[in-house]
Amino acid sequence: MTPVEVLAAHREESRLFSMADEGFSIILCACGAELEGGAAHAAHVLDALAKAGHVVVDLPEPDIDNGRQKVWTSSIADVILGEYMGVLIDWSDADDSPTPDELRALAAALLAAAVAAEGGRA
Ligand SMILES: [Zn+2]
Repeated sequence: MTPVEVLAAHREESRLFSMADEGFSIILCACGAELEGGAAHAAHVLDALAKAGHVVVDLPEPDIDNGRQKVWTSSIADVILGEYMGVLIDWSDADDSPTPDELRALAAALLAAAVAAEGGRA
């Protein structure tokens, strides 16, 4: 399923019960699940995206931003976006195999640099 198909399959179908003053509601998802509140429905949708193989990445801010360069540091490599040089990867000298968390951090840094290189956030 594409992300759009996942989101469509888990859209809010209706509110079965709502106490707006209390901030409480029961939401019927298009998949048939009944969830207590909007936060539970949002978590349900994120879980459905993950199960379909899609991830939501919180793009990190650069660790260094001097106006000409942005640098995202990690234990595996530094990702550098330069004003005239594009994106460079400065690999560390670590010999150990990276952990899954280290790989996720590097992947997020690369995505953040790509978005910034296209003129987006960060
Ligand atoms: Zn659902």
